[in-house]
Amino acid sequence: MLIETNLAADPNCIVDAFREIVGDAHVLTKSDDVAAYLTDWTGQYSSDALAVVRPASTEEVAALVKLCKERNIAVVPQGGRTGLCGGGVPIEGRESVVVSLARMNAIRTLNPQGRTVIAEAGVILETLHEVALQEGLIFPLMFGAKGSCTIGGNLSTNAGGSNVVRYGNTRELCLGIEAVMPDGSIINSLTGLRKDNTGYDLKDLLIGAEGTLGIITAAVLKLFRAPSARSTAFLSVGKLEDAIAVLNRLQDYTGGGVEAFEYMPQPAIDVICKAFPSIREPLEGSVECGILMEVASSRPHDGEDMGDGSIRLEAEVMELLGALMEEGLVLDAMIAQSEQQRADLWKMRESILESITESGPAYHLDVSLPLEQIAPFIAEMDPEMNRLGFAPLTVGHLGDGNLHYALSAAQGRDWDALPLEQAKTKVFEKLSALNGSFSAEHGIGQSKLSVMRKLKEPTQLAVMRSIKRALDPDDILNPGKLIPLE
Ligand code: FAD
Repeated sequence: MLIETNLAADPNCIVDAFREIVGDAHVLTKSDDVAAYLTDWTGQYSSDALAVVRPASTEEVAALVKLCKERNIAVVPQGGRTGLCGGGVPIEGRESVVVSLARMNAIRTLNPQGRTVIAEAGVILETLHEVALQEGLIFPLMFGAKGSCTIGGNLSTNAGGSNVVRYGNTRELCLGIEAVMPDGSIINSLTGLRKDNTGYDLKDLLIGAEGTLGIITAAVLKLFRAPSARSTAFLSVGKLEDAIAVLNRLQDYTGGGVEAFEYMPQPAIDVICKAFPSIREPLEGSVECGILMEVASSRPHDGEDMGDGSIRLEAEVMELLGALMEEGLVLDAMIAQSEQQRADLWKMRESILESITESGPAYHLDVSLPLEQIAPFIAEMDPEMNRLGFAPLTVGHLGDGNLHYALSAAQGRDWDALPLEQAKTKVFEKLSALNGSFSAEHGIGQSKLSVMRKLKEPTQLAVMRSIKRALDPDDILNPGKLIPLE
């Protein structure tokens, strides 16, 4: 269906033209109605827009983009607004419209045999989890914002989370997309093929592009058999180097069954328990290197009842942990004995961002390093940050080398007087020296443009700019994000 607008009759009335495309009820202009759409999750970025428009179909999105291109109006795609880099709100100084994909929230087809699902961009991640589970399947992307973030946002930020160690980032979970390009044309690769070498893989260009190259309207995603056996535990490990050894031993022992391996040292646990007094520390005493680990299997054999209330996988993991304790690699362990205990451990992990936000000002770094460089990074940076007056609060998806390294003010220090730029420079220099990345999973948005300009390899940046210019010469889609100005 091609949607035509009657713009020629009333060329100045762009908002009316939006209404013609999506219907009156789905064009928001009143300040009370649009306020929530114009401020990002961090509260750091907010601005204005001509309107917030909520299309219900790919054709409506295409018509909106065509219209905006004709009128040189910037289009800012938006999902669940949980992005942490200011990518989903308009920039100052450019006439913009926010296109919220929230109404495009259908599961078009679920194919249990092919283990795929076609989900529209506005489907909430947790909804997809629930729908897949009804078929005994999982979509394994998992993190704290699952109740609000959307598939379109997940793809556009190439979101990570806690299961990347086993299943990869969102990119690895996607087989094809449908998207509206900056000229309003529609591309569709929703075949679900696992092999298709017919030229450039355009889905990979749009995944992680943060809405600068196209608006994703639907995607084919991979599903997996839901685990029938699980073992979740909180470990106290002596030092980070030992944690990597524990990870590798667990992987070898379970045939790559580690689903999550999350780093949670004591300062992070303290901040969480202070912000959420109902959350209890999993182990007594201070935990130098805390690890929330989960191993899972869908093999019936691993789910067999051992006759003592445990299942085979749990018994095997217990046996391995016992051996690791004898070797001194693991100092203490709390093994979840029920679904409730497992849920409590995950609630603790997923409360960290809100806890840090509540505890006062902090600068959030989202870095990745080769696994063997994590311990040297922390060993050097923590004392350096302390010397500058900061108290680093670190958690991380250790299994995939991703640390969330938040700099808060050390006790008694005034945040506004701390040398944040100096601290950031130190961290970025160290990351460069250790082959790390300054943005592991949250993306660039507006907040990391200056470091992108400084640290991204110039030749890669030049190629990115050429691609953006070729596809979107008028800079219609999400301008001022991801790619720093020349
Ligand atoms: P939005 O915030 O709405 O948008 C994000 C970006 O994608 C913007 O640039 C926007 O323009 C673009 N976009 C949105 N939809 C589309 C579309 N359909 N087409 C094209 N562009 C689009 N992230 C992780 O990776 N791992 C984590 O562990 C993690 N934990 C988090 C925990 C909490 C408590 C919070 C608040 C956030 C966390 N995040 C995490 C960040 C965030 O949830 C992810 O970046 C998520 O993928 C964003 O999805 P969204 O739907 O909210 O997108």
